[in-house]
Amino acid sequence: MVPSQGQAVAARPCAYCGKPVPTRMNRCPYCREEVTEVRLSAPRRRNGRREIRRGLMYMLLGAVIYYFVGGHSGLSLPITLNPWMITYLAPVVFLGGLGMSLYGFFLRMRS
Ligand SMILES: [Zn+2]
Repeated sequence: MVPSQGQAVAARPCAYCGKPVPTRMNRCPYCREEVTEVRLSAPRRRNGRREIRRGLMYMLLGAVIYYFVGGHSGLSLPITLNPWMITYLAPVVFLGGLGMSLYGFFLRMRS
């Protein structure tokens, strides 16, 4: 994923002779000892930034839907939208985004 980590992932030290062994090989080319599979890359940390961004986007979308469909804007839409969109869709989208961004904040606080 991260290009700067390419050097570290490409080779790992042999547990027996200490020479770099390419990760695609499971046997050391120098001492012929079997190299145990060691996961150098830690599981990707979820710091919640992506959740926050996505949640805020959904909140904005919900607010926009509410704003336009609810007739709060001076503009009149060229198409007539069903009333269920204002009573159902906008709050669901907004609350979904709110929940997602709160979940992102929670992940950030933990990390
Ligand atoms: Zn070796």
